[in-house]
Amino acid sequence: MKAFTYQRADSVRQAAAAAIKSGAKIIAGGTNLLDLMKLQVETPSQLIDINRLPLDKIEETPEGGLRIGTLVRNSDLATDPRVRQRYGVLSRALLAGASAQLRNKATTGGNLLQRTRCYYYYDVTKPCNKRSPGSGCAALAGFNRIHAILGTSDDCIATHPSDMAVAMRALDAKVETVNREGEAKAIPIAEFYRLPGNTPEIETSLKPGEIITAVTLPPPPPGVQVYRKVRDRASYAFALVSVAAIVDNTRGQIRSARLAFGGLAHMPWRVAQAEQRLVDAPANTTTFNAAADAVLEGARGFGANDFKMPLARRTLHSVLAEMTRT
Ligand code: SF4
Repeated sequence: MKAFTYQRADSVRQAAAAAIKSGAKIIAGGTNLLDLMKLQVETPSQLIDINRLPLDKIEETPEGGLRIGTLVRNSDLATDPRVRQRYGVLSRALLAGASAQLRNKATTGGNLLQRTRCYYYYDVTKPCNKRSPGSGCAALAGFNRIHAILGTSDDCIATHPSDMAVAMRALDAKVETVNREGEAKAIPIAEFYRLPGNTPEIETSLKPGEIITAVTLPPPPPGVQVYRKVRDRASYAFALVSVAAIVDNTRGQIRSARLAFGGLAHMPWRVAQAEQRLVDAPANTTTFNAAADAVLEGARGFGANDFKMPLARRTLHSVLAEMTRT
């Protein structure tokens, strides 16, 4: 491992000012960053530890939502009674992610910013545009079973690995940030992540030195909430396909629906047209297939991940059938 300096931040602005420097990295739980450093994928010259900042609270908002500090651990968020009662999709997504040990360390902000699990990204002997821009993409013609089928580019077909972010996308969360000047922003999660395009190394809309301080959830929408994760091992694996669904249904007629998908794209994937096809429609196979058609419009497989197209369709069908069963 390359040598680095270590600094504890005393304030958000101090952390932001330090993080803007080339080679500096913020560390909180470290559950992804330390792995990347051991593999020489990340070689920071300075680590800025934000664990002592007072950003570990879950608070009610005046609007009836929740404000989740960036340092709230995944296990604490998943088991918070308010999250369990009002945001069941988020609690279930968190509990579906990683292992208990990792959830005890991993933070809300770190979960949002975790890097792809593309095998080639973690292997510094292989070309990877995300790790080394301009070097190529080994996954395009390589083993791409876990890779994206939506929103891909010729430069990168990686997926975003977070379960939590998929649930937050369905809940219309906002990511709060502060920069070194102390300016605060609230970024809708729909605008937080980027597609790979020809700059897959840039994954979010965060500017250099901009620090995540919290995630805000609006009041929960009406309806039943479900998170379904399909993976190779139930014990501990990333999603091949996941669905965060919030559906309001009365006697077989759907009133409102939100659907977000993981494992399919470079970011949590949500298609407004798919949700529109469910609203005011009967809960039946024809309606579910119409929604799946909209989700999968433009989908493209790369060989080993072709199975994700029928898997996404079947998973969505199963989730909707279960949620609307009378
Ligand atoms: Fe790198 Fe993206 Fe290609 Fe994976 S899919 S090798 S992360 S460029």
